This record gives sequence, C-alpha cells and structure tokens, in this order.
Amino acid sequence: MVIKMDFSRYFRDYPTPDGHFGPYGGAHLTPELKKAFEEINQAYQSICQSAHFINELRRIRREFQGRPTPVYHCDRLSRKLGNCQIYLKREDLNHTGAHKLNHCMGEGLLAKYMGKKRIIAETGAGQHGVALATAAAYFGLECEIHMGEVDIAKQAPNVTRMKILGAKVVPVSFGQRTLKEAVDSAFESYAKNYKDSIYCIGTAAGPHPFPLMVRDFQFCIGEESRQQFLDMTGHLPDAVCACVGGGSNSAGSFCAYLNDPVDIYGVEPLGKGAGFGQHAATINYGKKATLHGFDSYVLTDDNGEAAPVHSIASGLDYQAVGPEHAFWHDLGRVNYVTASDEEAVQAFFMLSRYEGIIPALESSHAIAYAIKWAKEHPYGSILATCSGRGDKDVDYIVEHYGYGDAFFSAEKKA
Ligand SMILES: *Cc1c(COP(=O)(O)O)cnc(C)c1O
Repeated sequence: MVIKMDFSRYFRDYPTPDGHFGPYGGAHLTPELKKAFEEINQAYQSICQSAHFINELRRIRREFQGRPTPVYHCDRLSRKLGNCQIYLKREDLNHTGAHKLNHCMGEGLLAKYMGKKRIIAETGAGQHGVALATAAAYFGLECEIHMGEVDIAKQAPNVTRMKILGAKVVPVSFGQRTLKEAVDSAFESYAKNYKDSIYCIGTAAGPHPFPLMVRDFQFCIGEESRQQFLDMTGHLPDAVCACVGGGSNSAGSFCAYLNDPVDIYGVEPLGKGAGFGQHAATINYGKKATLHGFDSYVLTDDNGEAAPVHSIASGLDYQAVGPEHAFWHDLGRVNYVTASDEEAVQAFFMLSRYEGIIPALESSHAIAYAIKWAKEHPYGSILATCSGRGDKDVDYIVEHYGYGDAFFSAEKKA
C-alpha cells in the first residue's frame, strides 16, 4: 500500500481548527449545541497545554487506574502458531477492565475544570456508562446515563453497576429503544442543561472536539506500548493492530506509530458476513455520509438512513466510525481489515486456554487478526491491543458455544 503523506508534521496539521481530518469530521449542530460544543473546545484547547492538568491526569492514571498497563508476550500462543511473536497491550488490566476509563477520567477532569456539576452520556451495552459513572464517583459529579429500554433489559449487570456507582439511568422508550435513540435523548437533555452539564461521548467520534479529545486521552495506550516494546525487545514491532468500533482504543494505540516503519491494522467486525445488516465493518463497506453531527464513513441503507448493523461484540456495532480513521484509510496509512464473529470466538477461546487471559469479544477481533497475521509472517512480531476483559461475555459464550471444547477438538483433528 502506498502511503500518501509524510507523517512527521501530522499532529501539527490535523485536525484543522474547525475539527477536520481531510474531508472528515467537523461539527454539524443546532445553534444551541454549537455554542455548547464550542465551550468544550475552548476549555480543552486551554487545558491540554496546562502542565497542572496533565500532571493531575498522570497522577490519576498511576494511582487510581493502575497505569501503565503491561505489554505481554504471548509465548505459548506464538509457539502454537510457529515462529511469529504475538504481544498484547493489556488494557484489560486498566481499572474497570477496559480502555474506556482512559477517556472518561479525562472527560471528568475537564468537567471539573469547567465548573460543571453533571456529566451526561448515552450508553449501548453499558460499558461507557459504567466507566463514566466510575469517573463521576471519583470526581464527585452527578452522572446521567441515557439507555434504551431494550438495552436496559439485556444488560442488567451493567445497569446495576451504574446505579451502585451513583448514576441516574434514564430509560429511553421511543423508536427502536436502543443506542441511536439513547444518543438523541442524551443530546436533548444536554441542550437543555448545558450551562451546568457536560456531554461525554464514549468513543473517538461525534462532533469536534470529541474525536481529537478522546484520541488524545487514549494516546497513553500507544505511548506506553511503544516504549515498553522497545525496552523488552530493543526494536519496534513489525505490526500493530486493534479492534475498531467507534475507534477510540485503536486511535490511541496507532497514534504513537504513525511516523514509524510499522504496519498498522484496524480490525472491523465482519459479523455473520458481508451481506446488508450482517456486520458493522464501516470502512470496508460504508460510504461517506453524515451521522450524529460529523462526516465519516457510514453504513447506510438505500434511503441514506443508518443501516442495521450486527456484531457478536456489542461494543463494535456502530454504523459510523471516528473521522480520523476514515482519513487514515484514505491516506493509506492504516489497513482496515475484518474478523468475523466466528473468528473472534475462536480467538477468545485460544487466548483463554493458551495464555490464561479471557478477552472481551471486542478485543477478540484484534487477537483473531493477530493470529491470522502471525501465520502469514512466520518471523514477524505483532502487537495487538487487548482493549478489555471478557467477564461480561462469558455467560453469552457458554450459552452459545459451550466451553470451547468443540473448537479444540476440531483443531486437534486438523
Ligand atoms: C467499547 C469497547 C470497544 C469499542 O470501542 P472503540 O471506541 O472502538 O475502542 C472495544 N473494546 C472494548 C472492551 C469496549 O468496551
């Protein structure tokens, strides 16, 4: 693949002051929300230069979140596959068990700095809701989480966690009663309350400045892993990969390597296959459109409406993708590949049995691709971001796939 840009000036040039990554990004908002997001932008531009803010965030990461998370060499898994070497960045060991807290603590600190008393957000599967409720408890902020009634019924344990942490869960009872309506409901509440509240998006998407801000807060993943990998091996990995839902753990993982001779792979969920409504592989199958206030690749139907999407990993089934990923794709810097439900489940079992790490189904997509890559590059090294732990997924897996014995007996026969 030909890379169409020199990345040494990238962070100075992108995003543009109005939040564009090439033709993607921006902020399409009602006049009222425009004012609110502009206020967030001003505040972020000033604190990201402030040594006091950065030091405080570093202290929180160390003392509260348990960062840095380790880089781990998957010795047994690698040997099963041949002479390649697979490494993991262990975001599953971050407090609350996933990378999401990295940006939620940043957003909470920003809310404090802006003198807000409440944080508002939507959640689908509840992972962002739990991470944000954790940040709210830490900072002593009120927390209002909008969630579709269908998701509330499906994700009872996460609803319980949010409530224990002191969050108010607002059920959304219109439309499909899932994530898209939860976003609409949260925006509506924010438009009414923006004087004393701040909206906190759960991924590196949404109107400017969220794609920039969330990426910056997630940058610790790549910043740490690059140095850790160098310390462990004396060189950089040949390749890095991470799963792409909205694109936050991947953006944070990739940023540190943009200017290095390292191949980068974003892994999208292929679900049950390439048919309409069967997957959520936005960059692979979507086209340029506007959703939720920003321009990017979007999966749409014939009428240009957001298409139905599917992935076994509920954290990956989003119709759009962060605008910076769309840009990296067009520039040829990041390769957007896919892993199916079936491949993710197989990777889930392999990492569990060979390494003693039960990964989230989202993260299993990155691990599935690392396994595939490793087989094709016998002497190469690949670093996959393990974005979260799989405790939340074990009941579903056992119900649908048992304990994985079928996968391993098939492997022995092969
Ligand atoms: C939410 C989630 C994701 C997907 O979100 P991104 O913004 O694409 O990183 C991936 N892994 C885990 C464990 C998640 O909870």
